[in-house]
Amino acid sequence: MKSLVLSIVVVLSVVFNSYAQQKEITNSLYSTYDTYKEGSLKDRRIKHKSIQPLLQKFANNTKFKVAKVGESIEGRSISLVSIGTGKINVFLWSQMHGDEPTATQAIFDILNFLNADSFTDEKKEILSNLTLHFLPMLNPDGAEHYTRRNTLGIDINRDALHLQSPEGRVLKRVRDSLKADFGFNLHDQSTYYNAERTNKPATISYLAPAYNYEKDIDSVRGNAMKVIVFMNSIIQKYAPGQVGRYNDDFEPRAFGDNIQKWGTSAILIESGGNYDDIEKQEIRKLNYVSILSAIYTIANGSYANIPIDDYNKIPENDRKMFDLKMTNVSYNLLGKTYKLDIGINHTEIDNPKHTEFYNLGRIADQGDLSTYYGYFTFNAKGYTIVPAKVYPKTIANLDQFLGLKALSFLKEGFMYIPVATIPSKVKSTKLPLHIVNTGYVLPKTLRLTPGKNPNFFLEKNGKIAYAVVNGYLIDLTTGKGTFTNGLVLKND
Ligand SMILES: [Zn+2]
Repeated sequence: MKSLVLSIVVVLSVVFNSYAQQKEITNSLYSTYDTYKEGSLKDRRIKHKSIQPLLQKFANNTKFKVAKVGESIEGRSISLVSIGTGKINVFLWSQMHGDEPTATQAIFDILNFLNADSFTDEKKEILSNLTLHFLPMLNPDGAEHYTRRNTLGIDINRDALHLQSPEGRVLKRVRDSLKADFGFNLHDQSTYYNAERTNKPATISYLAPAYNYEKDIDSVRGNAMKVIVFMNSIIQKYAPGQVGRYNDDFEPRAFGDNIQKWGTSAILIESGGNYDDIEKQEIRKLNYVSILSAIYTIANGSYANIPIDDYNKIPENDRKMFDLKMTNVSYNLLGKTYKLDIGINHTEIDNPKHTEFYNLGRIADQGDLSTYYGYFTFNAKGYTIVPAKVYPKTIANLDQFLGLKALSFLKEGFMYIPVATIPSKVKSTKLPLHIVNTGYVLPKTLRLTPGKNPNFFLEKNGKIAYAVVNGYLIDLTTGKGTFTNGLVLKND
C-alpha cells in the first residue's frame, strides 16, 4: 500500500513537473515571438510569390528539406518543408481555402523558430522524436484571387473522395506517403463566431473530426482530442474564454474527417476574430505559440495523460457576433415610433488585384437581438434615428474633399458630400463622410432593412449626438469610434 501511494506521488509529480515546465516554455515562446516572426508577411492578402523567397531560403539550408509536391490548376508550385529525424510524422497544411492565410504566416514563424539557435534542449527533443512536415498555402490560386475555392470553383475540403482538384490530390498523396501520425488542418473562420452563450469571439476554434456517423472515438481521434485540450489550455491564458469547439457531425467529403479515418490524428484549427485585430496578427501569434507547444507535447509524449473528457468541456462554436450591436434605438416609421436592436457587420471589398480592401457595412439583422453579441455594443436608449442629409454645395475635387473637417459636417447632419470630379478608381474614403456625385438624391424616407448599408444619425433632445457612417458608430462629442472608411456613392 505504501509503495502504491509512493508510486502515485512519483507519477503525479512527474506529470506536474512536465506540466509546469511546459507552461514555462509556452510563456517564453509567447514573450520571444517577435524574434522569430517572419517580417515579410505582414497582412492577410499574401500571395504565392510572397512565400517563394522564404521557401528558397529554407531550401538553401541543410537543416531543412524542401520538395515541390505538386502544382495548382493555374500552375503555381506547392511545396513541402520537412525537418527532423524522429519516427513520429507530424504533417501541417494551411490555406486549403485561399482566403484563410493566418496559419500560413504562423508556419513561417515556426520555421524561423526551428532554424534559430535557441531553445536548444526543446528543439533537440522535438526533432529527435518527430519529423515535421509543413505544407503552407495548399490553394495558391485561391490566395491569388482571395477566394475560398480553387480555380475549378470547388471547395477543396469537399473533394477528399472525388479528388478532382490537383490541390486535393497533393494533400492526399503527401498524407499517404508520410502515413502521418498527427495532421494539423489549418484554416480561418468567420470573425462572427463566438463561444456559445458568451459575448466572447471564437478567436480560435478546434475540432477533432469524426471518422464515422456514429462519432466513435478510437485512439487516433482520441489523441487529436487530447492535443486539442492541451492547446485550449494555452489559448485560455492569452485570450480567456475565446475558444470554440466545432460541431463534430461527420462530413464524408471533407479531408479532416477522412484523414482521421485513414489513421492520422486530425486536428482542425480555425483562426476566427479578435478585438482590434483586423489583420489577425495577434491570432497568428496564438497559432505560433499553441502549435509549437502542441508539437512539443507530442514530442515528449505528455499529451497522453490528458483526459479526453475535457474535450467536451470546451464551449461549442456559435455564430452570434456582430461588429456593432446597437440596442433600444427609437425608429420612426410611417408616423409611429418603434424600438429596435440593430446588428451591423462589414464585408471586405477587394481591389482588382486582391491586395487591398475597403469595408462595406450592412445591417445583418434587426429586431430583438438579445441573444446576440457585439465586438462593439451601444445602448441607444433615448436616442432616435434621423436620416442624414446631402451637403447643398459641391466640392471641386478629391483633394479639397480630403481637407474637410468631417466632424463639423456630421454635427450639422450632413454625411453625403457632392464632389465634382471623382476618379473612377476611388471607391472609398478615409473620412467619415460619403463622396457622392453632384445631384445625388436620397430616398424620400429612411428604411432600415437587413442587407442595407446603414447611414444615419442618433438624436437626443433635438441634438445630433452620434453618427452611423457605413455602419461605424462615431461619437460626435469626442470624435471617437470604430470607423475605417466612408464610401463613394453614385446615383445612376
Ligand atoms: Zn477553411
